[in-house]
Amino acid sequence: MTPEPTPFFIVFLTLFGLCIGSFLNVCIHRLPLKQSVVTPRSRCPHCGYELTWSDNLPLLSYGLLGGRCRSCQAPISLRYPMVEAITAAIFLWHAMVFGVTPLLAVRLAFACALIVLFAIDLEHQILPDWITLPGIVFGLVCSLFLPPGPVMSLAGIVAGGGILWAIAELWFRLRNIEAMGFGDVKMLAMVGAVLGLRLVLLTFVLSTLLGGVVAVVLVATRRANMSTAVPYGTMLAAAALVASLYGDSMLEWYLSRF
Ligand SMILES: [Zn+2]
Repeated sequence: MTPEPTPFFIVFLTLFGLCIGSFLNVCIHRLPLKQSVVTPRSRCPHCGYELTWSDNLPLLSYGLLGGRCRSCQAPISLRYPMVEAITAAIFLWHAMVFGVTPLLAVRLAFACALIVLFAIDLEHQILPDWITLPGIVFGLVCSLFLPPGPVMSLAGIVAGGGILWAIAELWFRLRNIEAMGFGDVKMLAMVGAVLGLRLVLLTFVLSTLLGGVVAVVLVATRRANMSTAVPYGTMLAAAALVASLYGDSMLEWYLSRF
């Protein structure tokens, strides 16, 4: 396979990304409700109208239906076309960075998990085990053949899970309050499994910086006060995506300055 994406590949990846984004919408809607993501067919949450294939075309259906249910005219959440468009954009972005390589496939699957975790944590403040635990296994198995390699992947799992577990434990002893759920611990272990030791540490640093910036903006615009909990999995997902795409170049740049 050629490393440079051809125009055909770019068109294919865009359509593929839109379709996967449509499936991620199903995951984001159903996983927190503990429903199957395979069956039954999607329904309008307002009137129960069963969606046909022509109501399910990524982006197109939303546009053609004017963002309303065909049957009851209830507005359809803007989240659906947004997740589809963002997924396609993230797929293309990855192809630009990784080229047409086996690592591209691994990082696309990882990005899908991050998109779902981002959206579910933002809305429900939970990070389903159904994504994080298979994600740890997936990262470790892929590392047998591809970067970061099995040793760095294992070290990433221990470090990623270990940092957050230690913080939660320390916070609990000092303040006697639960700082975070174990969903975050499992999620950072998953990031470590896929990206390895170096990039999981970078992800942790980036997520705290991002969390700090978001908290300051929210407090400054009076949308939150100092005790409002910011969904940490959301920050972690964004940070892990940046680390996956640019972590190696960021670390190289940083280390070359000393
Ligand atoms: Zn309806």
